[in-house]
This record gives sequence, C-alpha cells and structure tokens, in this order.
Amino acid sequence: MPYDFNLKTENNHLIIGDLDANQLAEEYKTPLYVIDEEKVRNNYNKLFNAFNSKYDDVHMCYAAKANTSLAVLKILEDEGSYIDAVSPGEIYTALLVGFSPDRIMFTGNNVTTEELEYAHKSGVTINLDSISALERLSTIEGTEGKEISIRVNPMVEAGHHEHCITGGPKSKFGIREDEAVEVYQKAIDLGFKPIGMHSHIGSEILESEPFMLAVETMMNIAGKVHKEVGIDFKFLDFGGGFGIPYEPTEDELNLETFTKDIINLFKSKLEEYNMGSPSFYVEPGRFLVGNSEVLLTRVNTIKESYRKFAGVDCGFGTLQRPTMYGSYHHIVVANKMDEEAVEEIDIAGNLCESGDLFARDRPMPKLEEGDLLAILNAGAYAYSMSSQYNSRPRPAEILVNKKDVDVIRRREEFSDLFAGQSIPTRLLK
Ligand SMILES: *Cc1c(COP(=O)(O)O)cnc(C)c1O
Repeated sequence: MPYDFNLKTENNHLIIGDLDANQLAEEYKTPLYVIDEEKVRNNYNKLFNAFNSKYDDVHMCYAAKANTSLAVLKILEDEGSYIDAVSPGEIYTALLVGFSPDRIMFTGNNVTTEELEYAHKSGVTINLDSISALERLSTIEGTEGKEISIRVNPMVEAGHHEHCITGGPKSKFGIREDEAVEVYQKAIDLGFKPIGMHSHIGSEILESEPFMLAVETMMNIAGKVHKEVGIDFKFLDFGGGFGIPYEPTEDELNLETFTKDIINLFKSKLEEYNMGSPSFYVEPGRFLVGNSEVLLTRVNTIKESYRKFAGVDCGFGTLQRPTMYGSYHHIVVANKMDEEAVEEIDIAGNLCESGDLFARDRPMPKLEEGDLLAILNAGAYAYSMSSQYNSRPRPAEILVNKKDVDVIRRREEFSDLFAGQSIPTRLLK
C-alpha cells in the first residue's frame, strides 16, 4: 500500500483542519502556506509520549530552524517543548515567544565570540562545537564555573542528502571522538562545569539503525569521559533527524520500536558505565512540523514544449528543497483529489532559473490552468529557507485549527523587497 499522507478530502477537494483548501486559496490568495495546528500538537505529543513512556526524564528540544514562525514556536512552547537554537537570532526569537532561558539550548557552528557572549548573557545552555569556542567562551566575563555541554561527532553518518549528513569523517560539526576526554578535561581546567554531551548525525532518518549506532557510540564516549574525567552528566542529547515519509513508497518511522530500541540501549549503557539517570534529550525538527503544512500554488500555464509543463505561481524562493537537495515533495490537486493520474508532467516554478522545478515527469491527473496544487510536507525547511530571489515577495502563511484561520505571516509587498536598503545621496544628484 502506498503511503497516503493522511489527507482529508471531501467532494473531490482537499480539506485542511475542517476547511476546504480551495476556499482558503480564494480568500488568502496563492501562493499560500497553510499549517494545521492540530498536526503540530499531535506530532509533538506522539514523539514525546513514545520516549517518555519508556524513560521518565525526557526533554524534546524543537529544532527551531525547521520552521521559525512565531505561532509555531508558541504552540510548541505551550506543549512544553524546549528549543534547539542554532543562532543568536533563534535565541532572541525563542525568548520573545516566551521560552524561559533554561528551556533553550544553543548549538551554534563557527560562532563568534560576540555570539557566545550574547548566548551567555541570555542565560541559555551553551553547547560548544569546537575547542576554539570553548577557549573563547572562557575569555568572556562571568563564565567561570559555567555549566556547558560539548558536541561530539560520532563516526556515524546519516541523511537524505550529502548536505544533511552531520556526523562522520567529512562533517564540520563537533569535536572528534578520540579527543573527547582531553576536551572535557580542558573544559574543567578552564574553570567550566561540563554537564552535557551532544551529537546530531543527520536528517530524515527513517530506520533505527543509524540512530542506534550514534546513540551507542555517543554513550561509549560519554561513559569514557565519565570514568576518566569524572564528569557527572546532567543530560545526554542525541540530536534530531527523525524522518517523515516524503514519497508514497516510504513508510512512517515505527515510533514504538524505534523509541524502545533507543531507550533500552540508553539505559543499558547508563548502567554499564554507572552514569546514574541523566536527562534524555532529543532535538526533532522535521518530525514535529514537516507534515503539518502544505504549500498551495495555482497552475497558471500549461505548456507543451519539448516536454509538457504545468507552470505555477511560486518557485524555489518559496520552497527550496526540490532545487537544493533534489527532494521529492508529493503534490496533489486540491480541486481534483479523487482523480487518477493520467499523464506525466513537469511542475515548474515561476523563477528565471532552469533548475526551478518542483517535479519532473510526475504522474498527475489531467492538469488545467486554474487548478490548485498542494505541495505536501512543506512545514520543515520550507518557509524558513525562503528567499525573495527574482524579486518575488514571500507568500502569506495561515494557521488553521479546525474551522479557525489566522494569518500568521502577512503576504510580503513590493516594499519588503528593498526594506533596509538605501541609495547613497551622492548617487541621487
Ligand atoms: C537541524 C538540527 C536538528 C533537527 O534536525 P531534523 O532533521 O529536522 O530533526 C537537531 N539538532 C541540531 C543540532 C540541528 O542542527
């Protein structure tokens, strides 16, 4: 059975929450991002409960970079989530939304000393990615005795694309396994109190194997550091990467087995190394928001050139993943949900770039100008990666909860294209 993406339909139409996608597109215009609040809440609770039913002390740090909409952050704040912030901008945003500093973990990469200082002053937990950052943090006033965490790079790689692999020998993240003891000792010598260890091996993981391997590797490193440096870990953070099906041929992660295997391994390693019962942290991004949002875009041009194209009213500035990673996004026709695929067609964006395609040779129902397409799984690494390239203002984003609708990002206007710019007066003579 192909994966059906849990879509709701009524009278040939796609339903989001309790609302017809076609009516939403009429009212709020296209292109339009539509996020379903219930799905975000459900995803959070599903994953949290799967872990928490097997280990008492679980924290989920939502990886904010997946979707930084304030409303999404607020929903997850309300659910009790913590935040994985990768930049001062994300720290600022999370604080603004109401996350207390102790619920924010800062895991930067190639951070400046100013950024470390900002994170320190904000009172968030700092997870260091290099010896350089560790040394520079120690030069900042008031960091004596500070609790810190260190990111290690277990020699495990996983991910749907080379760009998403964040562990293993080629990755720029974290410190090496073999220097962990030395680095934790150095942290102590610099006056810090190391309390955490972190790893994040990659994204879009749909099987337990690579994740298990990473947990095992990191637990062995943590065990060694505990034994040889005498660190009592308050938390061990295994990062994110939990995948969702993008293609109908993929299956959902089997949460029950996946979480059981991980927690069992975690517990047995804690016992093996006599490490007590530290908090178990994970940092899901995609899993919490990926399937909660669709991008609605209207077909405006059907063209029979050397190939057949359906041209739509947005491009890779609005959703980059297909162009950037070659990612598959399933596309349905929101006004023809019951119709079978009858032709293979390219779905092309509206930017002047030949790589601006959402799909090649995609089996679709008979497409006509005016049809409304819904690009699925557009909740993670979608709006947060958008740009105004080709001087196309970004679309609006609306939040649906059953029959309620709110605009959570207004559609940009032309004036947003040059916000912050100026022409030097000497050029205006
Ligand atoms: C991006 C990122 C995540 C989230 O990855 P997902 O694949 O979206 O779950 C978690 N931790 C860190 C450090 C990250 O950079």
